[in-house]
Amino acid sequence: MSVLDHPRAQRPRIGRNRPTITVIAVVAALLIAAIIAWVIVLVPDATDGGTGVGDPYFPRMGGGGYDAEKYAIDVSWDDTHALLSGTTTMTARATKDLSAVHVDLALKVDRVSQGTTVTEYTQDGQDVRVKLAEPVRAGQEFALTLSYAGNPGLVSGDGGFYDTNGEIVVADEPSSAPLWFPSNDHPSDPALMDVTLRVPTGKQAVSVGRLDSHTTEGGRDVWHWVSSQPMATYLNFFAIGDFRIEQGVVDGRPYVYAVSNQLPNADELMTTLHDTAGIVKELENLYGPYPFTEIGGVAAGADFDFGGLEIQTRPLYQADALQADSRQLMVHELAHMWFGNNVTLRGWKDIFMNEAFATHAQWMVGEQAGDGPANDYLNGYYDQLPDDIWQLKISDPGPDDLFDEAVYVRGAMTMQALRNVMGDDAFLAMCREWAQRPGSRSLAEFRVFAQQHASTDLSGFFTAWVDTPAKPERTPQNGFIA
Ligand SMILES: [Zn+2]
Repeated sequence: MSVLDHPRAQRPRIGRNRPTITVIAVVAALLIAAIIAWVIVLVPDATDGGTGVGDPYFPRMGGGGYDAEKYAIDVSWDDTHALLSGTTTMTARATKDLSAVHVDLALKVDRVSQGTTVTEYTQDGQDVRVKLAEPVRAGQEFALTLSYAGNPGLVSGDGGFYDTNGEIVVADEPSSAPLWFPSNDHPSDPALMDVTLRVPTGKQAVSVGRLDSHTTEGGRDVWHWVSSQPMATYLNFFAIGDFRIEQGVVDGRPYVYAVSNQLPNADELMTTLHDTAGIVKELENLYGPYPFTEIGGVAAGADFDFGGLEIQTRPLYQADALQADSRQLMVHELAHMWFGNNVTLRGWKDIFMNEAFATHAQWMVGEQAGDGPANDYLNGYYDQLPDDIWQLKISDPGPDDLFDEAVYVRGAMTMQALRNVMGDDAFLAMCREWAQRPGSRSLAEFRVFAQQHASTDLSGFFTAWVDTPAKPERTPQNGFIA
C-alpha cells in the first residue's frame, strides 16, 4: 500500500485585516519573492520522492513517492569470492510527480536504467538515489533495473547474513533485503516477488512461493521462485546450500519443505515440518482461510538470532528451536501468515499487530486442541511477570525494543483480555475480518476496528493495556473475568 506523506512547504498566509497600500506592496513583493524561491528551490526537491517512507523509527528506510508492485530479482552467488551479483527490476507506481526516487541497497550499484535508458544515480550507504531519465507523473507506472555486486557479509552490520560452513542464508527482521536486492524496504509497501538464484552446480537454492523451474545454465544451477501474492520485503529470503527439499500437495495446496543436510537430525526435522499442513488447518478454524497459495518451512544450519522468522509461505526455523518446541514455534510463525504477512505493518511502531496476534494464536490453538483455556495464560502471566516488564509502552516500544518480551507477552495478554471484554463471537469475527483483508494497517486503525466490533467503550481498555507503562488494574473493564 501507499506510504506516509512528507510535510510540504506551507504557503505564506495573508492577514484578514484590510491592509494599507504600503503593506499590500510589501506583501506582494514578499509573495513574489516567495513564489520565485519556491519555484527555484523547492520544486526540484518536491519531485524527489525522498529517502525514507516517513517511519519515525527508521527514517531512512525505503523511499517516498511510489508504491512498489513487483521485484524481479536475478542474482548469482559465487562461493569462491563470496560475491553476490545480479540485477533487479522494480516495477512501481508513482504516488506523486517524481524526478528522482530512492531505494535501499547495501551492495555496490554498477548501473541503473529506467526501461532501456541508462540513468544517473548516487549511492550513500544503503540509500540509492536514482534520477529518473524520464520524470513520471502521479499514478504512472515505471520500472527501474539496477545491476549490482558485493559481499553481503561485509555490509551486513547488524546481521541478516549467515554463512554456515558454506551454507548461505540472508534473512532478518526488520530488514535484510538491502543485502541482496534493491527495494522500498518497508512493510507498508508489499510487492510481488520473482526470484532467480544462480548457484554453484549441485547446490540447492530456496526462496519464496512456488518453484517455477530448476534448470542448468552456463555451468550453474538456476532456481526460479515465484510468489503469487505481494509480500513485505523482510518476508523474502534465500538459502543456498546442501538442502533436502520435499515438494508435494497436501489439502489441495502445494508445499515445499527444506532441511539443511548439515543438521544431524535432518530426517527428524523434515518429519516435523510435515506438521505444517495440520497446524495451518487449526489456524484456519480460528482465523479463516490461509491467505497464500503455498505452505512450507525451512530448517537451516545457521545459528540465527531468532528461533523462527515468518518468511512468507515458508517460515525459516533455527534447528535447535524447532527441535525444542516445534508446535509452539510453528503455530507462532504460521499465525504470522494471517497477522503480519497478509496484513502488514503500517510502521515499525505497530509491531504489536504482528507479535501480540501471533503469540495469542499460540494460546488460542492450544485451547482449541484441549490444552487448557487461553485465559489461564492471562491470569498466570499477570501474577508472575516481573515488575519491569510492565514499564514498556507496547503501543510505542521504540526501535530498540521491537522484539522485547513485553511486546509478545503483554501483547498476547491484551488480545486475551480484549476477547474477554468483547465476547468470543465478536472477537473471533473481528480477528477473521481483520486477517482476511490484505494490506498495510496500523495499531491505531486496529483500535478503531475493534471498537466497531465491540458493544462497550474500549478507549480506557486500550489506554491501560497498550499506552500505559504500568500494570493494568485487575478489573472487568480491563478484561479480567473470574
Ligand atoms: Zn513473531
